[in-house]
Amino acid sequence: MELIPREYVALRGGVLKRVYSVEMPDGTVVLGDHVAWLESRAARCSCGKVCRGSGQTCGDAECIAALGAAR
Ligand SMILES: [Zn+2]
Repeated sequence: MELIPREYVALRGGVLKRVYSVEMPDGTVVLGDHVAWLESRAARCSCGKVCRGSGQTCGDAECIAALGAAR
């Protein structure tokens, strides 16, 4: 997986949001949402949510039970 640089934008109230910037072919820079970037590459639970940590499910009890039943 290609790493992206750590970049942040300051939101109202002093909150920092992690983002990444992508330079477009025309030279303009577009900011992307870092969390969305991670989620787009993360493993998915059977229910479609992003898996937590290195797990195979999103952490919901139902999904964990379903994973156990499939084995
Ligand atoms: Zn799930």
